[in-house]
Amino acid sequence: MPVDDEILKLMEIVLTAEIFNTRPDLDANDLTPECRIIFGINGSVDVRRPVHVSEGMIRRGLGITDACRKLQETPVITCEEFGQRIRVTTLEPAARWFLKKGGLPIIQKNPALAYFFRDFESTNVSYEDVRANNPPVEDTRAFLQSRIATLLAGDERLKGALDLVIISAPEEVEQDFGDLVCTPAQETVIRKIQVARTHRNLLRKHRIHEVGKLLFVGPPGTGKTSLALALSRKLHLPVIEVRLSMITSQYLGETSKNIDRIFELAKSLSPCILFIDEFDFVAKSRVTDDHGAMKRAVNSLLKNIDQVSLIRHGVLLIGATNHPQLLDGAAWRRFDEVVEFGLPDRDMRLAILRKIAAGIRCSCDFPDLADATDGFSGADLRIMVKEAILSALMDRREEIGPADIERGIAAVKNRNAIRSQNWLA
Ligand code: ADP
Repeated sequence: MPVDDEILKLMEIVLTAEIFNTRPDLDANDLTPECRIIFGINGSVDVRRPVHVSEGMIRRGLGITDACRKLQETPVITCEEFGQRIRVTTLEPAARWFLKKGGLPIIQKNPALAYFFRDFESTNVSYEDVRANNPPVEDTRAFLQSRIATLLAGDERLKGALDLVIISAPEEVEQDFGDLVCTPAQETVIRKIQVARTHRNLLRKHRIHEVGKLLFVGPPGTGKTSLALALSRKLHLPVIEVRLSMITSQYLGETSKNIDRIFELAKSLSPCILFIDEFDFVAKSRVTDDHGAMKRAVNSLLKNIDQVSLIRHGVLLIGATNHPQLLDGAAWRRFDEVVEFGLPDRDMRLAILRKIAAGIRCSCDFPDLADATDGFSGADLRIMVKEAILSALMDRREEIGPADIERGIAAVKNRNAIRSQNWLA
């Protein structure tokens, strides 16, 4: 970091602490993730004032050593007690100095600063916008971790459930809603969930509970998992991912209890998303099970689905299956909404291709490509583009040409042909 940038960064931290300590309206979501770490309040919504800044905190949080020496040239900061306490001398001159040295871009990303500067020296900054763009504490791994630790302290049995699931905080989820092409029907379902969450109390009052259990249905590679995970970031909810085959494969006798624990975990961690993949496993197990343990497990799953609710408990339940025909009425009935994920039509393929290949140098014609990929899923289109890029790179080119695309299409067709071969025939 250039020296001036380092000083501005240090000023940001010290000014934020001062403003935060003297403005009781501000809360943890007015602090940037970096400030939360430096002030040692990462993972908590409740912040005890005053927050302090010391040389050690700066060194640990920002990797900047010698903060006091570096700040000597700013007339507006004092270092006391050998670097144990760094603070502004008086706020207004310090704020003016910060602006003059080019602090505006920093203010535009720091809600606590935006709160102060919106009324200062006609700095044109919208506090509301800056706060809305700041990652909320609830999205962070640290917040999730502290909630899990509290839960475990209260109930040791939940530990067993933690070993069977993957829990991600919104900030850890890679899938982004903006990268997905959704059908209008899928978009409507998402809007409905958003509205139901906003008006949860009203729905509760009218005893309308039949919302928030979704079954995603469609062939592999059509975006079911991606959408379930992308909703975590969009709705700012942690997501608990479960593969039914994983919880049922081990310790058969324990399976019912495990299912109970997973739902208990979801309710304790709410608001959250509980995503159950391979839902058809339930149906398959009914056919192959001969000692009844699996039947009990399935009954336990269905009972738990009955007893969880978005409106009552804040849990959004999403089941996904590639084989809807395997599900019987008992499982089917439990879901409020069945969301179809079909193979994309031509227009959707075109839209997916444009998203996947955005920023890639390509001399190909996307509409032609959409025509040529009939029957491809979103995942197939991704594989095709990946193969085309690799084909160009192997040829020491960075621009994809028609021959690379041909190779990509052939690779997908070859893959799918192998998959559909019947080895037993
Ligand atoms: P599924 O869970 O239905 O098997 P995934 O969500 O795992 O499918 O999708 C596999 C890949 O294909 C992901 O990388 C995803 O981004 C891509 N993909 C599938 N459908 C779409 C879509 N509608 N829009 C954009 N990408 C898609």
